[in-house]
Parts: sequence; structure tokens; C-alpha cells
Amino acid sequence: MQAASQRDGEPMKKYVYPFAEGNVRMRDLLGGKGANLCEMTRLGLPVPPGFVITTEACNYYARNQKFPPGLKTQLSEALTKIERKAGKRFGDVKEPLLLSVRSGSKFSMPGMMDTVLNIGLNDETVQTLARMTGSERFALDAYRRLISMFGRIVKGIDGKKFESILDIYKAKTVGGKDTDLDAAALKAIIVEYKALYRKAVGSDFPSSPGEQLDQAIVAVFKSWTGQRAVDYRNIKGIPHDLGTAANIQAMVFGNIGTDSATGVGFTRDPGIGIKEFFAEYLTNAQGEDVVAGIRTPKPISELRKEMPRAYAQLRKVTAQLEKHYRDIQDFEFTIERGRLFMLQTRTGQRTGIAALRIAVDMVHEKLITRDEAIMRVNPGQHIPQILAPIFDRADKDKALSEGRLLAKGIAAGPGAASGRVMFTATAAIKAASEGPVILVREETSPDDVKGMHASKGVLTGRGGQTSHAAVVARGSGIPTIVGCEAIRVDEGSASFVAAGKTVKEGDDVSIDGFTGEVLLGRIDTKPSEILQVLRGGISKKDSELYRYWDEFMGWTDRVRKLGVRANADVPEDAKNAMLFGAEGIGLCRTEHMFFAEERLPFMQEMIIADNEVDRRRALSKLLPFQREDFKGLFREMEGHSVTIRTLDPPLHEFLPKTKEDAETLSRKIGVPVEKILTKSNELHEFNPMLGHRGCRLGITYPEITEMQAEAIISAACELKKEGVKVMPEIMIPLVGFVSELVDQKKVVDETARRTMAKYGVKLDYKVGTMIEVPRAAVTAGEIAKVAEFFSFGTNDLTQMALGFSRDDSGKFTRVYLDKSILKTDPFESLDQIGVGELVKMATESGRRGRRNLKVGICGEHGGDPSSIEFCHEIGLDYVSCSPFRVPVARLAAAQANLRSKGVADRGV
Ligand code: ADP
Ligand code: MG
Ligand code: MG
Repeated sequence: MQAASQRDGEPMKKYVYPFAEGNVRMRDLLGGKGANLCEMTRLGLPVPPGFVITTEACNYYARNQKFPPGLKTQLSEALTKIERKAGKRFGDVKEPLLLSVRSGSKFSMPGMMDTVLNIGLNDETVQTLARMTGSERFALDAYRRLISMFGRIVKGIDGKKFESILDIYKAKTVGGKDTDLDAAALKAIIVEYKALYRKAVGSDFPSSPGEQLDQAIVAVFKSWTGQRAVDYRNIKGIPHDLGTAANIQAMVFGNIGTDSATGVGFTRDPGIGIKEFFAEYLTNAQGEDVVAGIRTPKPISELRKEMPRAYAQLRKVTAQLEKHYRDIQDFEFTIERGRLFMLQTRTGQRTGIAALRIAVDMVHEKLITRDEAIMRVNPGQHIPQILAPIFDRADKDKALSEGRLLAKGIAAGPGAASGRVMFTATAAIKAASEGPVILVREETSPDDVKGMHASKGVLTGRGGQTSHAAVVARGSGIPTIVGCEAIRVDEGSASFVAAGKTVKEGDDVSIDGFTGEVLLGRIDTKPSEILQVLRGGISKKDSELYRYWDEFMGWTDRVRKLGVRANADVPEDAKNAMLFGAEGIGLCRTEHMFFAEERLPFMQEMIIADNEVDRRRALSKLLPFQREDFKGLFREMEGHSVTIRTLDPPLHEFLPKTKEDAETLSRKIGVPVEKILTKSNELHEFNPMLGHRGCRLGITYPEITEMQAEAIISAACELKKEGVKVMPEIMIPLVGFVSELVDQKKVVDETARRTMAKYGVKLDYKVGTMIEVPRAAVTAGEIAKVAEFFSFGTNDLTQMALGFSRDDSGKFTRVYLDKSILKTDPFESLDQIGVGELVKMATESGRRGRRNLKVGICGEHGGDPSSIEFCHEIGLDYVSCSPFRVPVARLAAAQANLRSKGVADRGV
């Protein structure tokens, strides 16, 4: 029976769940850590007994500044259960039970309270513990840890103060490590710790175990509303009412002696994904010693020799966990006198390459379905990591042969990076604006995260695969090398020494996050292995990575409904797009074709001309160039649709900006400088984005549209004669009134008729429009009667619907994001509620106006996963994005379809 007493007719809420009563689906109520501890207990794994205080209790505390009614009773009942299981009693002098207090919300987040271990120790119980375990040294070690953890975590005393006391005593020992401290030293440390505590807090360290426990629980609850946690939730859009759970658990000890240990690991390699057990540990250690880099941890292969039975059991338990959760697990364990205990398990963070490999392998192992595998790779994060550049083999070999190898560390984050060395996060952030930076630290902490993100690569002297730096690397995709012990970092003088060379701040180094090599100087990079295979530089059979990629991307194509096209202006881009699996071009911006050196003067001549005859003369010189451009593009895209937009930007963008440039142009085209400058002045606009641009150009100067239509149709006719299948779609930009489209469509159709007659070729082509002016979205039904297709230009549509200038909004959107007035930058991720509604409405009424209207989107949003999901939901035909985003879009489109069919993101 639970403590379900009655009060005001309401049954008392259950705030406390013994591990045996929860399960993994209760993450909302029990937090991730708590739910998984319950699940492991249910599976019969060796988990020290404990219970979870729910997130609802935390929320109650946040509202009322006190524990909810009934919590105290439920807590002591749950405690009694642990005591019975452990055969010890909390606060008892004869057989004291010690506890850990751990926070854990649904999502792990910075700012939440760290774990406090060894609660229940005081001057009396520490002696019993010494007697019970036969090790005074151990008992004192546990006690000093409690005082410092409690002081730092619950009372907010600067941890460095405790550390510097410890350092003084460590320095006096022969070995210099924490394990070299003897009982006498530990006693002295405890005395100093207590004094430090009294000075900082104003009262004595609480000797009552009950008081220690209550204060620790309160601190967990309070950390939920702490500034750092609140800020983080604002940034990530995590609701503030989730609350955190508190996990209370009987202590087990990895620091009793050399037959005890603590460690962390992964069921597979989280860096490259191979199916290889992967863990690190420290003998005679406690808590997060491994992660914090107190001593460099040992590889798990040594545990096999040191404690074969515990090792075998760990292998068995973790294999069971992976099979149960059907995903890579990141686990924490402690071995107390040869006996294994599991303290945590969760889904492992992994790099892009590992995500791909693990997903495919698990399908082959029949652990998950293909649909589930598709959900396991993150389109926006993992795909760009897989496609990131790598070092050029030849240039790296050259560097090696020149003796530029400085050191080799542990490869923790795959990728290649060269840059200037910086030794602090602040310096890295500052220097990053002037070029690539490599952040070098002895070890990293949460304070360094901003600097790490600003850097192209990270290198640390200490720590293993589970260190802070390695964890961040896997999450963020930053090429990272950790535990590079051969380098000696001297942060004071901002330099490090390796292989007899001194590297100072600002010097160039290169790090290979695939191999762990650190090299002096810069090394050229090459495209990703995938792209090299696609381009034929590496053969398919030589690339295991490619084979995984190919199989996986094939699955996504079979699942998705949404088409994926690319935005490409030149054949080179179109080629990349095709290699990456694009099914057509959704946007070819023709203005780029006018900027090339040998063409610009003709364009300028056309703009400066003050009558139609002169304009046509200049345009006729541009025509052959355009025709060749389109032929190249059509050839590359044989058999696929190619959407070409007629001229869009305001004309002044093409004119010389300075007097000198005007003089050069004058010499080239034989027009007086004054005339050029006058024209330039005439064309000046106060608000060019809302000025004379888009179809407004083609309407005032129909000969421009005519020339472009002729170039497109004649290119298509010539290729058709060669037997190449072409499918041109001519797109008129910035239409707001259907009459604008009617005007331009007439020009295109007449030109097409003339051109086709000239070539004697019959051709299928389409004329459609971009929907980017809100008025067009509102009158889409009418426009669709004329337009054969729509393509949403969501960059301009966002700009005009929000009244945010694309070029100027950066300044205030940053503040908007900070203040959570905006959740995301509307130019990066579609504002689904506002702009998205326009898209949805226009699609619906457009299709009512024309049944088979083809509808796509070609703004930056076409490569953004959440916007792609939205496009899937409202039933667009395709998205179009930059060539390198095409695989991102293929995967995101597949996931969108699976999600709408209810396939979950996670196995359990
Ligand atoms: P985090 O959220 O940072 O992973 P945890 O709550 O998992 O923090 O605690 C960190 C470490 O503290 C664990 O990995 C484990 O080594 C140690 N720890 C927590 N609870 C216990 C316990 N009951 N007995 C022994 N060690 C514990
Ligand atoms: Mg922690
Ligand atoms: Mg943990």
C-alpha cells in the first residue's frame, strides 16, 4: 500500500516510485535517468536499490517553495524498502546506509544539479564505515568527497577551493595522485574542508543524515528553476513545466580498494559505429572520476585481465541492454569488491558516420526495421557530418614525410580541420571571426562549449572517449582529438610542446579526427569519401562507408513521398545535385549568368541603352551565352525537369559602383562616363527589394523575357534534335497579380512558338510562377488558372509576410531569439504558423484552380528538416534545396512520411 491518505476528499498523489514500480515509458514523470533505472531493475539487472521522486513533486516545489503534502511520508516508506533490501539503515550508527541523490529530467540539460554521493556520512558513521569495510582510508575518502560535493553542489561553494586544498595534500605524496593520499592526509583534508564549509556557508556541515538528504533534494528541485537551466530551455524550446525528478539510491563503492572500480562505456563505438564493445574505467575510484579526467582511464580490455568475472558480467549485461533497448547504449557502472552494479543507461550519442553504420547494421542484425533505421539518422546534424571534407591524402602524406607529425591522441570526433591554435574559449571565439581556429585545452568543461562551437577542431591533453570534450564532439560534429598525452599544454604561456617543438598561440596545426593525428601547419582538404566515390575518384568496392550510405539512402528513397530537387545555376552544381540524388532542378537563377566577366559589359550596355533598338542589340549578344548555359544544364539533367526563373534582381546591381569602374566600362562599350553615372543614379532605389525587379522588369522591358525564353527554347530544341530529353519549366518571379503572369506568359508562348517553328521541333514546356508576394498567395486560385506550376519562393515570401528585411533582420532577430520572441530564425526554418499558412492556403486554392498543379518550394527552407516535414504534411510535390542539402532533404522527407504513419523515433 502507498501512502494514499485522504485530504479534502482528494486522494493523495503518488510522488515516490521505488525502482521496481516504474518503467522506461514514464520519462515525463520520472525523468530519463529515473525511468531507465526502473527499467533496468525490472529487467533484473544488478542496480542498487532506490526510488524516484517525480517531476510533479518538483513542480509543486517550484510553485509553493515546500514539499507537497504526503511526500515526506512516502519518502520514508520508500527509504524503509531500500533499507530492507540493503540490510542497512539510513542514519544508523551501527550499520549506516549511504545514499546518492541524482537529478534527472526528461531531457538532459546543463544547469541541472550534479550528483551528490555518500549522503549519510558524519563523524560517527564514517568510523562505522571504516570498521565495516576494514578500510579507514576508504571511509575517509568517501567522507571528504561528500563534504566537497555537498558544499559545491548544494551550497554553491566554488569547487576550486576544495580542489586546491586537495592538490596541496596530493603534492605531498610520492605518487601525486588522489589514490596516494593516506588516512592521515585525508583526516587533515576533512578538517580543512569543514572549515572552508563553515566559512563559506556560515554554519557547520550538517551532521544529520536526514538533513543532508532533505537539503540535497531541495537543491535538485531548485536547480530546475536556476538561471542556467531556464536559459537553456528557452533556447531549446523545452517547456518549463516538465520539472526534474530526483533519484535516491543506495551507494555502492568503486573506491574501496584495488578490487573496486568505476567506469563508463558504450555498447558500440560511438565514433565510427563499428560493433565493438567500448568502455573505460578506473580502479579504486568513485563517481565521475573517469569523465572528469582525474586520472586517465584504462581501456576496458584491462578489466578483462584485472577482474575477469566482473568483466564477463558487464559484457553480458550491456549486451542484454542493447538488445532490449534496440539501440546503442551509453552506460555507467561500478564494481564494488568484484561485484558489478549498473548505475545508468541511456541512448548513446553518436557521430554521423556511427549513426549511419549502427542503423544499417542493426537492420541486418534484425534488431530494428528499415523504417526504424531511417528514423535513427538525424538529417540536419548527421548527414552534413558524413559529407564534411576530409584531409587530402597526398598533402597529409607530404606533411608526415616532412616530419610534421606532432602527436597522436584518441580520435573522438571524425573530420579534418586546420587552423590557428587558441588556448582559451574566449580567445577562440574572438579569433574565429578571422579564420579557422583549433581550440587546445588540457581538458574541457561546460564553460568551454561556446568556444568549442566557434572552433573548427578541438584538441585536449587529457581525458578519454567519454570525457567532456569527446561527448561534445559527438553531439556537435566538431573534429576532435582527446587524451593526447604527448602534448604538454601550458595555458599560462599559451603554448604547447610536442615532439620537441613548441606550438604557440596563433600557429597553424591540423587535426585528423579519424586517426587522432596532430600535425604542424595546414593540410589541404578534399571532399568527403562519399562524394569522392560518387565522382569516381574512389571505387565503390574500396569504400565501406559508401556501401552503407548507398544502402541507407536507397531505403529513404523508397519511403518518401516528397520529391527532392536542387537549386542549381551552373552545370557543375547540377552535376553535384544529380550525384546526391536530386530529381530535377527546382530553381535556376539566370541572373548569375550575367555576372560572368565576358558577359557583364553586354548586360550593362543593355541597361544603359535608352531605346528598345539598342537594348535588343545588347540582348542579342547575350543570347548565345544563355543558350549555351541552358544546354549545359539540360544535358546534365537529361530526362528531369529544370525550372528556370527569368531575370529577378533590380538592374542597378549590375552597374558599376565606383567612378573608376564606370570609366573602365565606358572604354569597353564606348558610352560616355557621364551617361553611365546618370543611368546609375536614375536606377537608384530607396527600397530595391520592393522596387523595380522580378516580373516588373520583364513587363517594362519585354525584350528581356523574350531573349531569355528564346535562349531556353532554342537550347531545348537543339538538344532534342540530338536526342536528349529536356523538360524546361519557365518560371516568372514576383507575380502578385494574375494579369502580370498573363502578360509574361504571352511573351514566353509567342517566343516559344516562333523558336520552335524555326527549328522545326515540337517541345513540351511549362510556364509557371513563383509565389513570393503575399497577394499571390491570397489570389492563388486565380493565378493557377494561368500558371502550370507554383514554386514557393519562401525567402521573399517570409520577408514580405513578416516585413523582415532579409539583409537587415540579423541584428534584431538575435535579440528576438534570446528573448524567445522567436523560437527559430524564420529565414532558416519556415514560420509554419504564419508564412506556412500562406503556403498551405495557396496550395489548396491553387489546386482548386488547376487540378494537376505541380507545387514545390525553392527557398532556403527546402533544405531545413522541419520545414521539409511541413511541406510533406501539406502535400507539396517537391522541395528544392542546394545540392549538398539534397541528401538531407531525401532523409527528412522519408522521416516525415514515416512520422505521419506513426513510426516512432526510438526503439523503446
Ligand atoms: P550524470 O547525470 O552527470 O551522469 P549521475 O547521476 O549519473 O550523473 O551520477 C554520476 C556518477 O555518480 C555515476 O556515474 C556514478 O559513478 C556515481 N553514482 C551515482 N549514484 C551512485 C550510487 N548509488 N552508488 C555509486 N555511485 C553512484
Ligand atoms: Mg553530471
Ligand atoms: Mg550518469
